[in-house]
Amino acid sequence: MGAIDFDSVTKVYDDSSGTVVAVEELDLSVEDGEFLVFVGPSGCGKSTTLRMLAGLETVTDGTIRIDGEAITDKAPKDRDIAMVFQSYALYPHKTVRDNMAYGLKLSTDLTDEEIDRRVTETAEMMGIGDLLDKKPGSLSGGQQQRVATGRAIVREPAVFLFDEPLSNLDAKLRKHMRTELAQIHNELRITTIYVTHDQEEAMTLADRIAVLNGGELQQVGPPKQVYARPANHFVADFIGSPSMNFVDVTLDGQHLRLDGPDDDWSYEVSDGLAEIVADAGVTEYIIGVRPEDVRLGDDAPAGKTVEGTVEVVEVVGSDNFIYLESGGQEFRYRAPTEVEPAVGETLTVTFDEDHIHLFDRDSGEAVAHGTSEADGSSRAVSRSVTAED
Ligand code: ADP
Repeated sequence: MGAIDFDSVTKVYDDSSGTVVAVEELDLSVEDGEFLVFVGPSGCGKSTTLRMLAGLETVTDGTIRIDGEAITDKAPKDRDIAMVFQSYALYPHKTVRDNMAYGLKLSTDLTDEEIDRRVTETAEMMGIGDLLDKKPGSLSGGQQQRVATGRAIVREPAVFLFDEPLSNLDAKLRKHMRTELAQIHNELRITTIYVTHDQEEAMTLADRIAVLNGGELQQVGPPKQVYARPANHFVADFIGSPSMNFVDVTLDGQHLRLDGPDDDWSYEVSDGLAEIVADAGVTEYIIGVRPEDVRLGDDAPAGKTVEGTVEVVEVVGSDNFIYLESGGQEFRYRAPTEVEPAVGETLTVTFDEDHIHLFDRDSGEAVAHGTSEADGSSRAVSRSVTAED
């Protein structure tokens, strides 16, 4: 069992350089067996959250529970949690076998035979069975990562914590280890909380992702949902690569008009969307459009197109990423490979109303996704998830 609740958890660091609110009133429930990924830019409070859960950092305010029991004041060793760090933290003078067995010897009264059985079984599962008598110094980065993960698994904890465990590996190995971690989780179904600044890693691993910024939870939900219905401008910008296009517009009746020097551009919206937008009582918006929702616009109605000069064409194999310059802004277009414009060429592109995201320019909150209303304020979304659990 390993259901976790963060109940209004706050962490404030006070030191000579001042006061930092690293995590602010975090409300979040993680289900038993779930794989939850905290993602966000450097300094957003991911590690602090994980370290408070592990007991390596005190909690300034609020309560953390595992299976309903408050653990906020418990010593790390009494929390039934195993953590894998970015640095692996293996003992250099111990063999792989002893590294993996050490925690069990310290914290359990299992017999040597039982410990050895668990270590051997886990090492086989991790594909490091033939490395058991080696020392960490003679292993590759990927092998050390497997040992660090194996050492956590062997303890059979209620909760696994991973703090950027793959950042020291090269890109190919990182992807491979990602798949392995997902497979291990599928097999063991132990509650896992994983921290990364890499949104692609978060999207591929998580049952749900929790996006943090400036110590505040921005949105929590399944990757697809966060991608398709970002709660606010920050989430929309952070999740997805190349990132979403944003254009400042003002609502004028049934038209969203571009703010800026090239103000003759306007995008006519349907009655339905105009109504949602009018109900929101906001006039200044940011339109967001994902690069893959952009298409060639030669046959699109006038007023629904964007004309731009091709600045860069990135060939990535499966698609071409085309960067246009339009009205002083960059506009990204993820095009099929047969669209291969020359640099300097003028291209006309368009996007459908179904694929527009509209954000209140003032608060950043999403107002509409396509022709449906957004789900409410991002803070309210994260709170309502907690309330339901
Ligand atoms: P992340 O893991 O998302 O990069 P952290 O949780 O490490 O972010 O840090 C969140 C904020 O708390 C940052 O502003 C960081 O500078 C600050 N912080 C982290 N640890 C300490 C500490 N020991 N003392 C003071 N400030 C800290």
